Amino acid sequence: MVITTTTPDSGEDICSTFASRYVRMPLPKFKLPEKAIPKEAAYQIINDELLLDGTPRLNLASFVTTWMEPECDKLIMASLNKNYVDMDEYPVTTELQNRCVNMIAHLFNAPFGETETAVGVGTVGSSEAIMLAGLAFKRKWQARRKLEGKPYDKPNIVTGANVQVCWEKFARYFEVELKEVKLSEGYYVMDPVKAADMVDENTICVAAILGSTLTGEFENVKLLNDLLVKKNKETGWDTPIHVDAASGGFIAPFLHPELEWDFRLPLVKSINVSGHKYGLVYAGVGWVIWRSKEDLPDELVFHINYLGSDQPTFTLNFSKGSSQIIAQYYQFIRLGFEGYKNIMENCTENARMLKEGIEKTGRFDIVSKDVGVPLVAFSLKDSSKYTVFQISENLRRFGWIVPAYTMPPNAEHIAVLRVVIREDFSRTLAERLVADIDRVLKEMDEIPSSHFSTKAAHVTATVDETQDGNGGRKHVEKSAKETQEEVINTWRRFVASKRTGVC
Ligand SMILES: *Cc1c(COP(=O)(O)O)cnc(C)c1O
Repeated sequence: MVITTTTPDSGEDICSTFASRYVRMPLPKFKLPEKAIPKEAAYQIINDELLLDGTPRLNLASFVTTWMEPECDKLIMASLNKNYVDMDEYPVTTELQNRCVNMIAHLFNAPFGETETAVGVGTVGSSEAIMLAGLAFKRKWQARRKLEGKPYDKPNIVTGANVQVCWEKFARYFEVELKEVKLSEGYYVMDPVKAADMVDENTICVAAILGSTLTGEFENVKLLNDLLVKKNKETGWDTPIHVDAASGGFIAPFLHPELEWDFRLPLVKSINVSGHKYGLVYAGVGWVIWRSKEDLPDELVFHINYLGSDQPTFTLNFSKGSSQIIAQYYQFIRLGFEGYKNIMENCTENARMLKEGIEKTGRFDIVSKDVGVPLVAFSLKDSSKYTVFQISENLRRFGWIVPAYTMPPNAEHIAVLRVVIREDFSRTLAERLVADIDRVLKEMDEIPSSHFSTKAAHVTATVDETQDGNGGRKHVEKSAKETQEEVINTWRRFVASKRTGVC
């Protein structure tokens, strides 16, 4: 047994306040401190330092849930000490996860009977879900190639260049080549025609995104399915589809039930969704669902004897908390189809309001689409004086966290701001945000352009010098568009070094 004792503060005045006693010395950062401190002090010190973090509710950069009902918070706190993996000890938690899998599989129109159990698993997020789905595709493809006596050492996966970083992770960790369909100005999702063209005999799957991280747009999974059905017939291959519905999986079923993107399409073999995005649970839960048992190679499944019955598991982690799974089940039964539909309608309506407010400034082009994840992505019509990156920095003064980023290849010259609308982003906040954007624009308009132009001028000079091989400066007339591209490229290099992830 370890007894923690607090050493009396020798030499400290009995009347010292909290601050003079504990904040006089720098806090330990590298080595475990030798002595213990009172619990109140530890709490206060950490709590105070955390005050400098952004406010989650004002973090418009993230899809991840920042508000839940107090009743659910209570369930979460009560289950913090339950290890999810102890299925024998916590059979009810396991049962709740199985119910969630069934409900999501039904929502995605998986072809199984009313009382049959679906094939799927709860994960820490969509990233883990995507690793698992990708691995299943890789194994299936390899098994098929082995059977045909063909080489199976060069698997690839086809995606749009707009994929979330976890796909690049999957590709690198599991040694699969990532073949990206390039974007173009004005078209920021995967073009299904180009994707189908890129498919070859080594393609383990094509990953389509329902709700592109950058613009919220849904990719055309139906067209992709039809093109691949045709290509598979012609070539004798069997290229399947995975849908990354991290953000859109809890939107499309409620707002666009007629949109065919899920297991209604025969080539869609697995789908992931983030419970902690529009599943409305705090960070730490995702889901992956397979169309049928046949789509999840048995060699990847570990069978645990759970109260005498077989509980198959397929995850990358072992121990983890139970709270998120319990919270997901809470949301499902608390809200039901009606509740989710209501919330998604509200979010969409607030996104529309915000979009209109932003359009009204007359300074931005809207890049996001009306059908998609409720977010507004917008680019400056004219960034010759200042850029979206400076607008983003200035909005921080008001507490807003609005990310600015450039698009992936080949649309890198477009830089956008993105505001994600979550359940807790009210109309009042939307109005305030527009007012603050307006204010920032007006302030920046007032500042002489020489203030902004140092970085831009630097690029212009470099470009000019390299164009004239003699090191002399050659004056080149630039179009507004060229200038804009240069300014944005400089900022892109600038932000690349302090990359703020959009998630
Ligand atoms: C957020 C997101 C991911 C990663 O999901 P996590 O749940 O954060 O791991 C993957 N793909 C898309 C399209 C996303 O939006």
